[in-house]
Amino acid sequence: LADRDGKIWFDGELVDWRDAKIHVLTHTLHYGCGVFEGVRAYAALGGTSIFRLEDHTERLFNSAKVLRMKIPFSKEQVNEAQKAVVRANKLQSCYLRPLVWIGSEKLGVSPRGNTVHAMVAAWSWGAYLGEDGMKRGIRVKTSSYTRHHVNITMTQAKAVSNYTNSILANMEATDDGYDEALLLDASGFVSEGSGENVFIVKGGVVYTPDLSAGALNGITRNTILHIAKDLGLEVVQKRITRDEVYIADEAFFTGTAAEVTPIRELDRVEIGSGARGPVTEKIQGAFFDIVNGRNPQYAHWLAKV
Ligand code: PMP
Repeated sequence: LADRDGKIWFDGELVDWRDAKIHVLTHTLHYGCGVFEGVRAYAALGGTSIFRLEDHTERLFNSAKVLRMKIPFSKEQVNEAQKAVVRANKLQSCYLRPLVWIGSEKLGVSPRGNTVHAMVAAWSWGAYLGEDGMKRGIRVKTSSYTRHHVNITMTQAKAVSNYTNSILANMEATDDGYDEALLLDASGFVSEGSGENVFIVKGGVVYTPDLSAGALNGITRNTILHIAKDLGLEVVQKRITRDEVYIADEAFFTGTAAEVTPIRELDRVEIGSGARGPVTEKIQGAFFDIVNGRNPQYAHWLAKV
């Protein structure tokens, strides 16, 4: 990923992709105090547009606040940086990665006395869990790793360090032949995937864990709450158990990278008919209509680059 043509926005300037480098004594590299976002731009009807750009930037600043980091740029600058990166790399649709990290002036646990830096990169990225998974559903394994407790790492921050837990869970699941992991919270209730929020459908009602289960407040999750309402579906945010997923009619993951990915199996137990369910398909269709600019009701969620 490092050796290619293109531009990366780095501390306020567009620099050549290969020159976007940091020092080995970068504080964040050692202690993991950093925050980031995952954003997507789509080749929408009205032209390439970043989906829910302002909401992602807002979450980035909130993540930084939780970690007591001060981003040395305004939200407007970070929004403009993302548009500039899409344009500079001539991308029609892409994934964007804004990252905020602590510099290399000094080491030691306390980051105080260090500078804070920001960058935005963008590249083409197709279906995160595979095209086939989008249609047929993916196979998921309950992780042996517990998702972060809300008072251990801060789960409303999209913090770099939270992802060690995600990486462990994802490697365990994929090494065992599954597509993704489902993590439970410290009390044993369903929390989220390694990089996705989770939903189940039972008797026509849509359920998702409430955020006290340590799940990230996903922007796609929030989009699904709107879509479900528009489709006349009841949505309940509550504690969900692992066996409630086994006996659900349908299940799916949501995320900027994963978009809306059906889950067909958990721990080798088929969910519903073991395929993408009809409610999931409807929600998925509505989601892609919105991000691709085919639903004027949500035009305000698309920031034209
Ligand atoms: N949970 C985790 C752990 C994630 O990494 C992500 C991806 N950002 C999500 C949920 C989904 O969030 P969003 O829909 O905002 O991408």
